Amino acid sequence: MQYRKFNAEEREISLLGFGIMRLPRLENGKADEEQSIRMIRHAIDQGVNYIDTAYSYHDGDSERILGKALKDGYREKTMIADKLPTWLIKKEEDIQPIIEEQFKRLDVDFIDFYLVHNIIPEVWEMIQETNMFDHLQKLKNEGRIGHIGFSFHGNYDLFTEAIDAYPWEFCQIQLNYLDTEIQAGLKGLEYARERGIDVIIMEPLKGGRLSDKVPPDIQEIWDRAKAEGVVSADRSPAEWAFKWVASQPGVSLILSGMSTFGQLDENIEIFSKEDVDQMTQDELAVCEEAAKKYNSMIKYQCTACRYCMPCPQELDIHIVIRHLNNWYAFDKNPSSKLEYTEWLDKHGSDCVHCHACEAKCPQRLPISDIMTDAEEQFGF
Ligand code: SF4
Ligand code: SF4
Repeated sequence: MQYRKFNAEEREISLLGFGIMRLPRLENGKADEEQSIRMIRHAIDQGVNYIDTAYSYHDGDSERILGKALKDGYREKTMIADKLPTWLIKKEEDIQPIIEEQFKRLDVDFIDFYLVHNIIPEVWEMIQETNMFDHLQKLKNEGRIGHIGFSFHGNYDLFTEAIDAYPWEFCQIQLNYLDTEIQAGLKGLEYARERGIDVIIMEPLKGGRLSDKVPPDIQEIWDRAKAEGVVSADRSPAEWAFKWVASQPGVSLILSGMSTFGQLDENIEIFSKEDVDQMTQDELAVCEEAAKKYNSMIKYQCTACRYCMPCPQELDIHIVIRHLNNWYAFDKNPSSKLEYTEWLDKHGSDCVHCHACEAKCPQRLPISDIMTDAEEQFGF
């Protein structure tokens, strides 16, 4: 296992972190506790020493299962990252009861890395008004949490504003060879790196879409790279994607939300290679070609500018479109449907076809019809 030194932490941390938001599930949809505990312990036994959970993952079972997995001497072998659910906070008094519940679920008295979960425009003002950072700083001073950071899904401008607002020690952003310009993007990674802030990467495989059910046109690009000698050994789509992220300057750790022992063992093998964080210019060019090909498969050219908002039905129009684009580009991968179902309050079927949004869209997208398309593809 490859390890990195964070600016904020004395111990070395495995370059691969285990994100436990997609634990194996039972037929009833609940997380499979027995299998999950075995997976977490197996990861730790193989050298992974950063486990990332959150209040909301698996309705709290992710934290509870991690707490159980860390019995029998495993707590001492790994670091825990947990997150404060910003969407449940309306006033400062709401913060501490949630954190106490997390300590109880995890059954620990110290959380190594604590994040403000999911900074987006809708919660940024509230984060400042509730003194969230100062509240966490007090917990740090009391020795209950180790490092303070945030996870992020807003745009680059908000990212720089958030970075500059408080003395964060680390942050967590989405990055993969396809998503280099959305959210914080590569520019955000560089901005944080210049300021000495450790950056943790999430969604390196875009929720598994860059590794599962790879479209034939993309597989042809990987096969050609091998045939033309750009790489000497077979390389899976997952390894291409992980190596691309690992080779970006400023990346401290890469989270993967693994659901099976197969994924876990494959990822551990990839992150145990000495050159996992190295890519030649030719290899980077191959990734760029794959990204261009994926982008050419994007059906609706929404730029996520949000000029169409607000929608009277409170639809997050650009996010519905993003899930629908993913659905088409990634061969109707079930992850897109799962995210559309679980991450959105309002869906295509909530559109009343008032067309108020369409005149405001600089891309002239037929948004009302696109909402109908989403309803037909996803069933609601
Ligand atoms: S057409 Fe649909 S998506 Fe657009 S503003 Fe009206 S309800 Fe919202
Ligand atoms: S205005 Fe158009 S391009 Fe911008 S977010 Fe809305 S749908 Fe997308």
